[in-house]
Amino acid sequence: MIRIEGLSKRYGDVEALHRIDLEVPRGEFLVVLGASGAGKSTLLRSINRLTEPTTGSVWLDGQPTTGDRAGLRALRRDVAMIFQHYNVVPRLSVLKNVVTGRLGRMPALASWLQMFPAQDVAIARECLRRVGLDHKAEVRTDKLSGGQKQRVGIARALAQQPKVILADEPVASLDPKTSRTVLNYLREACRASGITVICNLHQVDYAREFGERIVGVAGGRIVFEGPPSALDEAALARIYPGGIGEGEAESPVAEAPSSVAVAAAPAQLTLEQS
Ligand code: ADP
Repeated sequence: MIRIEGLSKRYGDVEALHRIDLEVPRGEFLVVLGASGAGKSTLLRSINRLTEPTTGSVWLDGQPTTGDRAGLRALRRDVAMIFQHYNVVPRLSVLKNVVTGRLGRMPALASWLQMFPAQDVAIARECLRRVGLDHKAEVRTDKLSGGQKQRVGIARALAQQPKVILADEPVASLDPKTSRTVLNYLREACRASGITVICNLHQVDYAREFGERIVGVAGGRIVFEGPPSALDEAALARIYPGGIGEGEAESPVAEAPSSVAVAAAPAQLTLEQS
């Protein structure tokens, strides 16, 4: 469970977050919805301390998170992140990208040498299976489409076996059909593993479709909190005080993804070979 208390963040004169209080139960798929500049990214990055809050505290499973060395190490292990622009290493194979999710869980020497034991490779393959990409394991990642690269990003986050996945606008660069496929994989894989997801989105329809609960943010404040069914016109007017812009409303409905099952074949792996 995540508990956020009195979280504020200032950048000079800009107050990006103002006294945010929020609880996210274990296993929830929470969508943070808001226009560009609302403070979504700052909120997410304050949770894993990519951004250091100005005031306030964040608790993970009853433990306060801290920005010191030991605190950051624990956070990086327990909290995985998925980025808008995928953050994959293009010249490495899909499998090697995913297995890097294991680095924080490996003994220091093995991690430093980037030699991945067979067990970690097996975990990476299983995570690729969860996002329907096991048949692409040996392909160079730069050969994949945008949606497939983001599924690699999801598999890498899953391989970390985190308690929480933070997804910062994970489908902002993708078309509607691919976006739904990617969000479906993220939701189903995390549901199967009991992983808590906090997913920033700016599109209302995806928030309604995928959020178990929605938190609306505007001007660095929470202006709505409730189930998708409660996201009415009045709530949208608070979340989008400047009106709903292009790309923030409806998108055509796409098919759900199908998954491909292939048995894992563990093998030791190093990152130098591509
Ligand atoms: P969102 O993710 O909803 O687009 P952000 O959290 O990125 O919003 O930004 C919230 C506010 O904080 C915006 O006004 C933005 O310009 C400002 N901001 C974000 N990051 C920085 C930074 N590193 N330096 C200065 N201002 C920033």
